[in-house]
Amino acid sequence: MSNHLFDLVRANLPADPAAKLFLETADGARYTYADLIVRSGAYAAALVAAGVTPGDRVAVQVEKSPEVLFLYLGAVRAGAVFLPLNTAYTAPEVAYFLGDAEPAVFVCDPGRRALLEPVAEGAGVALVHTLDAEGRGTLAEAATAAAQAFADVARGPEDLAAILYTSGTTGRSKGAMLSHENLASNARTLVESWRFTADDVLIHALPVFHTHGLFVATNTVLATGATMLFLPRFEPARVLALMPRATAMMGVPTFYTRLLREPGLTREVAAGIRLFVSGSAPLLAETHRDWEARTGHAILERYGMTETNMNTSNPYAGARVAGTVGPALPGVSVRVVDPETGAALGTDAVGMVEVKGPNVFQGYWRMPEKTAAEFKADGFFITGDLGKIDAQGYVHIVGRGKDLIITGGYNVYPKEVENEIDALPGVVESAVIGIAHPDFGEGVTAVVVGGAGVPDEATILRTLEARLARYKCPKRVLFVEELPRNAMGKVQKNLLRDTHAGLYAAGRA
Ligand code: AMP
Repeated sequence: MSNHLFDLVRANLPADPAAKLFLETADGARYTYADLIVRSGAYAAALVAAGVTPGDRVAVQVEKSPEVLFLYLGAVRAGAVFLPLNTAYTAPEVAYFLGDAEPAVFVCDPGRRALLEPVAEGAGVALVHTLDAEGRGTLAEAATAAAQAFADVARGPEDLAAILYTSGTTGRSKGAMLSHENLASNARTLVESWRFTADDVLIHALPVFHTHGLFVATNTVLATGATMLFLPRFEPARVLALMPRATAMMGVPTFYTRLLREPGLTREVAAGIRLFVSGSAPLLAETHRDWEARTGHAILERYGMTETNMNTSNPYAGARVAGTVGPALPGVSVRVVDPETGAALGTDAVGMVEVKGPNVFQGYWRMPEKTAAEFKADGFFITGDLGKIDAQGYVHIVGRGKDLIITGGYNVYPKEVENEIDALPGVVESAVIGIAHPDFGEGVTAVVVGGAGVPDEATILRTLEARLARYKCPKRVLFVEELPRNAMGKVQKNLLRDTHAGLYAAGRA
């Protein structure tokens, strides 16, 4: 039977079934492509035996292991919809997701079963299974007991393969519905653009509940028959030790900043790598330059999101420009429009980034109105990111629309102010946010991580006044040890705004 996404994996299986898929896993086990076929088939059979029918959701909140990926592919082969949940979600959060998604099965860590089984029951989920970080649990046992040869359930390009909930820093978290072709088309595009082959060995240290580790990294490998050094988590020393055996790494910017702090990061250790990719959050231009100076490699920065898979990428061959996310990927259309009028904007004008292509999702699960509001009549999806396209066609992301600061009626793009602050001596990094201000509506506020020799607040303010229009200059500079980040390395500006909400309250500023 044709199963659109899994057919892509089958079509690209390495000639030798003993070819390695996962190495360096938490339990030290090695898995081959033959294991992938057998184990994903076993999970598919176990799910079908448990009553899972095509279109049913399979919700999964488990630690990273090769078995989770076998389960992902098993769900796809069974015609089900894979629904991974961030391992950090608490019981009340899980209750929301299960109530919203109404999965046929919920899979959790055995250690959390006592806590989460009543939650699942409360949400009307008929079956709870377990799977731990070593790949053991009731579901793994059911898979082992199930028939191993599985005839894939027929699924077409438009059928759903996965639902990924967005991190939802404002309002309810939304389930992004991704079709077989959304995932397959993006995998094919990335393989082509980044020149993946069966000879590649990818360092995989990302979580697998998020689009980056689950789809960008994994599907690119599966669509070429390549190998992964599959680490349970990111540890700089471990990644450095493995680097000589790898050809590629995909990471979030914090991987790169943390590796740069390791004295062992040298040209020699990175000599066998052909590609370093960064995404999920902005890579500082300075990190890009430091990495190139240390290793001789220009990091390839790309831009995407849960809803759209990957949209743009710096070129494999050609200029990888620091501070940009590169041109639109083949088959993807990207435009920048005036957020108020919707009119297309010209070169270098900052506005709302919109995208269209086979990569763009099918809408938000059970939120038809929200979905309708985020798509234009001509099929473009409104990303919520502000950016511009330069004369070379390279896209620059300047931040989330909701992070735009409006002060005294003027728009301030935080990135522009952050770039000026980051260029000051002794500044490690900064986040510029808007905080309620009695006179200005919002007061531009800089939160700075300072290293040795960082100037004091008054000096920073004075320096910026000479470089930025007055309305863009921060009213205050606050110093912190580090910026709050989520699992994907994104700075959580909403937390900073909450922490400092009262900064300009009457009598304080
Ligand atoms: P997520 O859905 O968690 O993958 O988050 C997607 C968001 O991450 C995008 O809408 C952007 O705001 C941000 N993002 C992803 N990649 C980049 C990048 N290379 N530079 C700047 N922002 C990025």
